[in-house]
Amino acid sequence: MKVKVLKFGGTSVGTIEAIKRSASIISNWSKKNKVIVVLSAMAGETDRLINLSKSFSKTPNPIDYDNAISTGENVSCALMSIYLNSIKIKSKSLLSWQVPIHTSNEHMKSRILNIEVDKILKELKVNDVLLVPGFQGINSKYEITTLGRGGSDTSAVAVAAAFNSECIIYTDVEGVYTTDPNLVKNAKKIPQISYEEMLELASQGAKVLQTRSVELAMRKKTKLSVRSSIKPNKSGTLVTEENSTLENNTVSGIAYSKDEAKITLSKVLDKPGVSSRIFGPLSKGNINVDMILQNVSQDGKYANLSFTLPRGDLEKALKILKKEKSSIGYRKINSSNNISKISVVGVGMRSHAGVAQTLFETLGNNKINIQVITTSEIKISILIDDQFTDLAVQKLHHAYKLHK
Ligand code: ADP
Ligand code: ASP
Ligand code: MG
Repeated sequence: MKVKVLKFGGTSVGTIEAIKRSASIISNWSKKNKVIVVLSAMAGETDRLINLSKSFSKTPNPIDYDNAISTGENVSCALMSIYLNSIKIKSKSLLSWQVPIHTSNEHMKSRILNIEVDKILKELKVNDVLLVPGFQGINSKYEITTLGRGGSDTSAVAVAAAFNSECIIYTDVEGVYTTDPNLVKNAKKIPQISYEEMLELASQGAKVLQTRSVELAMRKKTKLSVRSSIKPNKSGTLVTEENSTLENNTVSGIAYSKDEAKITLSKVLDKPGVSSRIFGPLSKGNINVDMILQNVSQDGKYANLSFTLPRGDLEKALKILKKEKSSIGYRKINSSNNISKISVVGVGMRSHAGVAQTLFETLGNNKINIQVITTSEIKISILIDDQFTDLAVQKLHHAYKLHK
């Protein structure tokens, strides 16, 4: 049995017309293959469900919250199947517990542990297309869990990996670009990109693929591509192990993330063990801290410590740190939401100097202040005021000549 795994994101199922357009792509693939389709919620639906839930509590009970925010995907799967059957394509929608897709126990950023393929295979014998909801699964306590924003990409790669199939992600742009094509008009489509670079771009905010989907594809060697659901005949981007077409470029792309928040603890006693008393409870709370900046006072007794984290975790992190105040020993806690992170990514940076200098010069010339800097072998990230995000990305894209 030849199986193809396709995934359609929110805008590709966001309206009746979009569902019909995506159905015709599914129909084409189903002529020569059995097709498993992973769907997102209709565009805007997950946001609507999140806002609804949060209008009752800032920190909703995780079980109820996942029950609420996971429903959008079920609706798109059912609607798509109703339409496919109406045009004589034999299909069936499944809920995640019917597959089942088993996940770890935690909520809101659960991880897929395994997918039972037997039931799907049985269903594929009597159906041509199966619709599977992305973004969710079921844990060992039979609770519905969700995988974090953008998680349908990860669901799709996990299904593809379980079937040793390729995975095609259909979205609202033609592929992966040198930066967000909706922000920089002359961004260039990248025909082929290595897992490593894609992983870096995704983890720094290029939301065209969820980071964990790339991680999983890399680990399982899943053939992964990104294509347009609006112009399905256009070639997209292939994410692969093979040499990237970008190998000769120093910088291959620029990512940005507005999904950041910063917490500053002032007058923290500068003593051994204090970092672990701050970051230990956060990590226990399943909160990933990203950039960390520490300034020690002149007498060396105190430090001010700032760090960034996903905006969605801010309330939870503040609650934890306030609870731990006496054990950590800080004077004041502040937080801010109006920051964003810009990252310049490229494997070529390993062997080229001057990448950082171009970044500093470009931002300096445009009077954009840098709050925090972090670097790795293939990436430089900076934190800036979020009102300058678009300008910074546009100027940097030009400065690194990515439009050429
Ligand atoms: P979907 O709903 O299909 O999952 P997403 O909105 O999650 O789609 O991801 C697609 C969006 O990612 C694009 O519309 C684009 O604005 C954004 N994006 C950010 N960076 C990039 C990039 N480097 N290449 C392509 N798209 C990008
Ligand atoms: N619907 C979920 C979200 O908006 C998952 C996804 O679209 O990938 O985050
Ligand atoms: Mg997405």
